[in-house]
Amino acid sequence: MKYIVLCGSFILFLFSGSSPSWSKHLALCKFSLKTFEFKGTPADQVKCLLRKIKMNGSSSSKQVIPEWLTMHVGKQTNVQRSSFRKYLVKYKILETDLGGNIDKPLISTKRKDGRMVQAQYFVIHDTATANKRKRKSFPDNMNTSKWRYNNLNSSLWNSTSRKVNLIINRLGNSRTFIDYEKSRQGIAVKLEYAKFAKQAKSMFLHVENVQPRIQPHPFKGKFFPMGPTPGFTDVQLRRLALAYIAASVRRGTWLIPAFHFNIDHGLKNYYAHNDPQEFDLPRWIDQVEHVLNSISR
Ligand SMILES: [Zn+2]
Repeated sequence: MKYIVLCGSFILFLFSGSSPSWSKHLALCKFSLKTFEFKGTPADQVKCLLRKIKMNGSSSSKQVIPEWLTMHVGKQTNVQRSSFRKYLVKYKILETDLGGNIDKPLISTKRKDGRMVQAQYFVIHDTATANKRKRKSFPDNMNTSKWRYNNLNSSLWNSTSRKVNLIINRLGNSRTFIDYEKSRQGIAVKLEYAKFAKQAKSMFLHVENVQPRIQPHPFKGKFFPMGPTPGFTDVQLRRLALAYIAASVRRGTWLIPAFHFNIDHGLKNYYAHNDPQEFDLPRWIDQVEHVLNSISR
């Protein structure tokens, strides 16, 4: 239990005091307190929100955005609920394991202009689970049910369960902690702190992905920055694709995927968690496209 660190074993904050909440735009990708959105079109936003994160968590860099995502993000899904449901039944996947009933809308909030808006951002995390038993190597059994962190019913996840909507293990199983329609008790990114943008809470859905971390030289202390390569298994990415499609079908438009680090990086006096590590964006979008092709057949 002590080994669990929710997404990134980074130092959380350094100072208190001055609040940047007066600022109109927050953090690296410029979250607007007026619109509750990041700057730019959805296609522009993913370029910033999906920047590749350095292992030491100091910064992130641009990466190529897969064409499917650029073409679809923010636009209508055009996926029939009945077709998606048929797919889920065929593969014995429960809607309740993908954030809840796909007929229901997502959580929504009222903007300053009075308009109700549904959650729009699909935030991808990794659990950054420190492998303290072997600090320099990954567990041999990390992709099997014998690795205890793959047990989603374990009390190991009690704290996580109050902060995020969903968790996905390395065997491709998922568990919904909080329905996509419901408010989360805790916060999953610093931007959601009241001093920054508490309204952001209703704009974000959060998905944790189980991933071990190790501590290469010269890192010491509590920081376990390195994830395995690839970071997530194929079945884990498949389930993440399904969780994304389920959320987007409920909203009616393709949500804007985002990495945790890029949401928080640049917030005054805070360091952002360095997750997700080793996330293979093209492989994930391949899984999204694969599922969509299977649904439309
Ligand atoms: Zn995280």
